Amino acid sequence: METIIDQYEKIVDYEYIHNLYEISKPLCHKSIVHINSTIYGGGVAEILNDLIIIMNELGIKTEWHQIKGSIEFFQTTKKLHNTLQGEETELTDHEKRVYLDNNRKNSIYNHVEDTDCVIIHDPQPLSLIQFYEKRQPWIWRCHIDISNKFNPTWKFLKNFIHRYDGIVVSMEKYKQKLNLPQYIINPSINPFNNKNRMLNQTEIESLLNDFNIPNNKPIISQISRFDKWKDPLGVIRAFKIIKKEFDCRLVLLGNMAQDDPEGFEIYNKILQYVKDDPDINIITAENSLLVNALQRVSKVVIQKSLREGFGLTVTEALWKGTPVIGGDVGGIPLQIIDGETGYLVNNIEECANRVLKLLKNPNLAEDMGKKGKEYVKEHFLMLRHLEDYVKILKKYVINYKI
Ligand code: UDP
Repeated sequence: METIIDQYEKIVDYEYIHNLYEISKPLCHKSIVHINSTIYGGGVAEILNDLIIIMNELGIKTEWHQIKGSIEFFQTTKKLHNTLQGEETELTDHEKRVYLDNNRKNSIYNHVEDTDCVIIHDPQPLSLIQFYEKRQPWIWRCHIDISNKFNPTWKFLKNFIHRYDGIVVSMEKYKQKLNLPQYIINPSINPFNNKNRMLNQTEIESLLNDFNIPNNKPIISQISRFDKWKDPLGVIRAFKIIKKEFDCRLVLLGNMAQDDPEGFEIYNKILQYVKDDPDINIITAENSLLVNALQRVSKVVIQKSLREGFGLTVTEALWKGTPVIGGDVGGIPLQIIDGETGYLVNNIEECANRVLKLLKNPNLAEDMGKKGKEYVKEHFLMLRHLEDYVKILKKYVINYKI
């Protein structure tokens, strides 16, 4: 069977791949463990799904572990997540205990003693570090926009962050005042998996059909977890403005992440708000091919986030040559060059106006889509991501002294 790296040989020079093997050689047979809190739902799981495989293809013995937890634990970690994004609610002492106790339990059955490096993703497993006798470098990979963090949460988390050997964030402005090395890695997509591979028209039509999405008028979509920071209600309000001038259909597709207990609540809120508008399809499913089909068939993809660590959904849509209208927040401006690969917007009216502009000017939309695809090819594909990791891991894993 073709490996992911074999597939890459179709789109990059052999030299590039050869060099990647060369620079990875010192890591061959070293063992790395990534730990996060969900195997599906959200950008972190999406990245790790392929990154773990491709690291093994290079010869780095890489494992992927997930921490388990009670509903109360995930409610607490969602609160941590929300406050790191700026919400101002303090964790109670009880919640702190739930957080720590759950991580302590996970440390009992996640054996990392013989591993050469541990990479912890996001805040959910962050405090694991204090329950081990540390024998190797630990890196915290934070995927969240922490430029507006709520200080009491940060103060609590700093107790654990200080024990790490380094931190990786997605953008310069997410770096913190800390006495630790901090690195930047931009996320990426795998262009060959089911979410991003080419689909033909018959496959697209059949997927739309399976999910009862009529293709009788232009489709615009937002594809995101049902989360208030993704502003689904704002998208629906923008759609209502758009509809007054241009007949089209809105599809909101969202999956439920294992570690996000707020999803169903927001999903139900949206259903109540929309009632039975025949031109709005609200779908919840875990289906990468459907995501792929929608990102391809949409005339415009919207990602009207109010906070966004990076926004892989933007990368994915741009890769398909679809222009994206995105909130001017977090990692979205790294990907949308305003007026070139899409538009950045700051409110509902702007969002509606920009979508209308692209719906009414299909040539402009096509041109932006093409530029977007090239931009993703140059900056946000998985081999570049892998190379970034290899460079950082080499600093830590070779000759590490306790
Ligand atoms: N996603 C999905 N199905 C959905 C909605 C989202 O598979 O119904 C995926 C999406 O394609 C992307 C990831 O979830 O790969 C979301 O990553 P992003 O960085 O955009 O946001 P996050 O959820 O991590 O905040």
